[in-house]
Amino acid sequence: MRGTQIFCRAGSLLNILRDVDLSTYNTLALAARADYFCELNNAADALQAIEFSRAKGLSLTLLGGGSNVVIAGPLAGLTAHMGIKGREKITESDDSVEVKFGAGENWHDTVNYCLDQGWYGLENLSLIPGTVGAAPIQNIGAYGVELEAYFVALEALALDSGELVRFNHADCEFGYRDSIFKGAAKDRYVITSVTLRLAKKPAPILTYPALQKALQAEGIGAVPTPRQIADTVCRIRREKLPDPSTIPNAGSFFKNPLIAAAQAEQLRQQFPDLVAYPQPDGKVKLAAAWLIDQAGWKGVQRDGVGVHQHQALVLVSERQHVGATGCALLALASDIQADITKQFGIDLEIEPVLLGR
Ligand SMILES: Cc1cc2nc3c(=O)[nH]c(=O)nc-3n(C[C@H](O)[C@H](O)[C@H](O)COP(=O)(O)OP(=O)(O)OC[C@H]3O[C@@H](n4cnc5c(N)ncnc54)[C@H](O)[C@@H]3O)c2cc1C
Repeated sequence: MRGTQIFCRAGSLLNILRDVDLSTYNTLALAARADYFCELNNAADALQAIEFSRAKGLSLTLLGGGSNVVIAGPLAGLTAHMGIKGREKITESDDSVEVKFGAGENWHDTVNYCLDQGWYGLENLSLIPGTVGAAPIQNIGAYGVELEAYFVALEALALDSGELVRFNHADCEFGYRDSIFKGAAKDRYVITSVTLRLAKKPAPILTYPALQKALQAEGIGAVPTPRQIADTVCRIRREKLPDPSTIPNAGSFFKNPLIAAAQAEQLRQQFPDLVAYPQPDGKVKLAAAWLIDQAGWKGVQRDGVGVHQHQALVLVSERQHVGATGCALLALASDIQADITKQFGIDLEIEPVLLGR
């Protein structure tokens, strides 16, 4: 690892390294190198990284926890790891509190911190890997709750001007695992902070059947405490999903496809066991895991990458296996997609962000 230090306007140093291995910066543990690399510990660092990349004509790629990316090849330009910490209470009423979090705060630690303070709402989103700053990008969701329900605003530095921009809820154009940061604003901002509004009185959301069932099985009454919900969510997740620190993965690799009700009905006639959930807008959400499992891909392994043996939606890689590259993983994903299209007429969309292609 080579290091080059550049002076910044404020007089502090931003340490910019050359040719850095990124395998510990993504939860799939894929080996790929960054041309230039730096850590961002405050907004001034972020601004200097923007200035450096603009001055040198380099692209700037952000990495948080690396839990929603597939690094398919070497990353040209400057890769910046988001490490901005901090929690600041902005407003408080009898019912709620608005808190601004640094983009580099760990998401699960943030959920726990809020619960400890008596600030509620995030409990269903416990144990999702990654950082606070990345959470709005795909409007993280789990167990019947999406981030957008608690989101107030975020602050971001524009890559083309260095200007600090505020995005309110409407500006973010949230959707299912989606926001403007995956569309028109993709790769145009460094998100530096996120402000959330949390309730001071518990308002449990128990709409997700698996959560209800797990709470009942644990003998927890009809009105669980937020902490009981968080603990139960953590237990379910630990049982269901492989821990990336032991089996490298990026969580759900494909989005659950949304299709027209008529198409779902046709499929159900052909496949009576089809797992499908009617949506409020009349569409039907299919379980991508069911499609992949049904097509016979669960547990398939080849050259250091594969489909998890118990969870068909999770693609995995073998740490330090020479074949475990982003390209190998994407080739496997592409074969799965082609097969699902052939067998069910459904196009599966990859959920993580593809980098280095
Ligand atoms: C085991 C496992 C389980 C998961 N479960 C869920 C789940 O239940 N629900 C769910 O929604 N997701 C889930 N995920 C996906 C992932 O945890 C989330 O998408 C998370 O928000 C990603 O955060 P990150 O910091 O790791 O982002 P990264 O993977 O580092 O980055 C994701 C994208 O955001 C960009 N980015 C990151 N930080 C910034 C920033 N500060 N400014 C601008 N751009 C930025 C990156 O360039 C990249 O394009 C899971 C992942 C794993 C590995």
